[in-house]
Amino acid sequence: MNPWFGKALVLLSMVSIVIIRAPHGRRNSKIAVVESRKGCLEIALLALMWFAVMILPLAAILTPVLSFADYPLHPLAFSIGVIALCAGLWLFHRSHADLGRNWSISLEIRENHQLVTSGVYRLIRHPMYTAIFLQAIAQGLLLSNWFAGPSCLFAFLFMFAVRVGAEERMMQEKFGDAYINYVRRTQRLIPRLW
Ligand code: SAH
Repeated sequence: MNPWFGKALVLLSMVSIVIIRAPHGRRNSKIAVVESRKGCLEIALLALMWFAVMILPLAAILTPVLSFADYPLHPLAFSIGVIALCAGLWLFHRSHADLGRNWSISLEIRENHQLVTSGVYRLIRHPMYTAIFLQAIAQGLLLSNWFAGPSCLFAFLFMFAVRVGAEERMMQEKFGDAYINYVRRTQRLIPRLW
């Protein structure tokens, strides 16, 4: 099938990610940060994600530099990609809405930070990462490019492996037993599974 169907959807998803996140970023930039663990590693991880989620796919879609790695778009890959994309964008929106004023792009505690355990945080502790995982799968299936397609998935897995332990330690130090109990009754990424 025409690879531009997949490429157009990846572009649409990038625009949607920016639109979903923008109001939360604007609002939260006015709330003071009382503790930050944004070290060099965090900054490098954010840059890596930005490169894999935006720069590389844009290069593959808008320029011919990665065309050597293009392959035909299969209808089954397209269909699964569309489902993963819709689920990912919905969860990305819901997790930002549920975290609200407690959301930060990096590891930070904000003024009057509340532990959120409701909404999409009721069953899993990292729904925003699940959303990024789903979008990474969608990008891999829809972009039909061996290089720019899987880049987001590799970047995400690396980011998750490095960050999730540090994030949970920070939350436990801030919220103590409340967070330990929350950990006991929830999974990390997939409800009831993992
Ligand atoms: N890992 C979460 C949140 C990502 S945003 C997810 O995938 O949904 C990262 C910031 O969210 C962290 O700096 C932390 O301050 C905040 N955070 C993470 N889990 C939280 C929770 N349950 N309640 C409140 N804030 C949380």
